[in-house]
Amino acid sequence: MQKLIITGGHVVDPRNGIDGPADVAISAGKISEVGSVALSRAQRVIEAEGKYVLPGLVDCHVHTAGHPEAYRMLAQAGVTCALDLAGRPQTTIPEMLVHGCGLTVGFLFPLIPNETVDGTAPSDDQLRKVTRDAIGAGALGTKVLGGHYPLTPDATARAIRAAHDIGCWCAVHAGTTETGSDIEGLEELVTLAESHPLHIAHINSYCRGQVTGDPLLEASRAIRALGLVPQCRSESYLATINGTSAAMVDGIPKSNATKTCLRLGGYPGTSQGMEQAILDSWAQVNVADNGVIILASPQHGLKEFRARHTHVRVSFPVNSAAAAIGLATARKEDAFVVNALATDGGSIPRNVTLQKGFALVRFGALTMAELVSKACSVPAEMLGLDNKGHLGTGADADVCVVDPDTARADIVLAEGHVIADHRGARGGGARVLALDYAAPELERQRVPYACVAPSWLTDSD
Ligand SMILES: [Zn+2]
Repeated sequence: MQKLIITGGHVVDPRNGIDGPADVAISAGKISEVGSVALSRAQRVIEAEGKYVLPGLVDCHVHTAGHPEAYRMLAQAGVTCALDLAGRPQTTIPEMLVHGCGLTVGFLFPLIPNETVDGTAPSDDQLRKVTRDAIGAGALGTKVLGGHYPLTPDATARAIRAAHDIGCWCAVHAGTTETGSDIEGLEELVTLAESHPLHIAHINSYCRGQVTGDPLLEASRAIRALGLVPQCRSESYLATINGTSAAMVDGIPKSNATKTCLRLGGYPGTSQGMEQAILDSWAQVNVADNGVIILASPQHGLKEFRARHTHVRVSFPVNSAAAAIGLATARKEDAFVVNALATDGGSIPRNVTLQKGFALVRFGALTMAELVSKACSVPAEMLGLDNKGHLGTGADADVCVVDPDTARADIVLAEGHVIADHRGARGGGARVLALDYAAPELERQRVPYACVAPSWLTDSD
């Protein structure tokens, strides 16, 4: 049997209580042994002396749709499994199959007023039909993009309830027709969740000081709000830039979040305001470059914004680093208040969990084991994946070898295959993570898939 051994590294695998030097043996795509392994039995040896050997990252908030570069960017960032927080089966699955780089990826279907549902207050019947259709086609559930394209508070609550009744995932970006993408939106959302399980997206992004002028005060309000909904799961990210659509309708940003970002920088919420913000580098246009997505220079960005008739994504430096650190490290009774570390990245160039996470470890704000727990094992558990997020015997051989000096992934393996190294990312297609409702349709389309049944979605029944 083909055997690969990663030798001499410092293995961190909190789920199995390992934090020290060890070899990791891989056979038939699984972890076969961790400890002191005789190299004579190896067909291939990866030398990892001076490096950290971690489980592959499980990023439970990414975006890939329309930007297949995302998979390559994720693989290069050490991610082997991800949850896309706005994907449609007709486009996401084909892209995943061609560009997926060997990752395992679930996706959530977006509930967007006048696009995928009728108006801001779709009927219960429609919410349930759209949700069932989405999970039957391969989605793990639905996503409400409240901060960008809000539903009414009542419709938001009904979308959450519908997902729970059907037994699927629901993620919400806080904000409704009554509130914004801010701390008040989050405080409203925890009441709308009632007793239902809910994935509350990117907690740090509600703590930009938009309501009180004080990001840290808003972070402490967020921590209090999350304490009210122990049945929910949440994540935050560490990048200071966001990512939002620059698309204009009649010269006004279509997304509410985009309007707010322009206002925060002192620009009018108009097409002209956006152009000036791009020229001043307050808004940085995301452009493809050599198979990945980067932040364009002002002149190049403005050219793209005009050439694509405003249909580009922009990043604004609106996130508070202080709030991001506070939320990533906030603890209550030996547990983290915010469950997972994610990136809200993928195609948005901010897949920085390793770099910023290692910085927090060096700072003493997290231990390496805590970082691995928040970036690997906890999100794997959220997704109902017992075989990922750790390096126990029999687990999928998803491994990330990290250079502590650069805090970057040197080599990334997914199920025993190298999907990224110094030469870049590779690895063919992805596998879809779906609920068993989707099995007949995915079989019919011959889409590689794995079924999951995340227990926290049904535990609160
Ligand atoms: Zn997002």
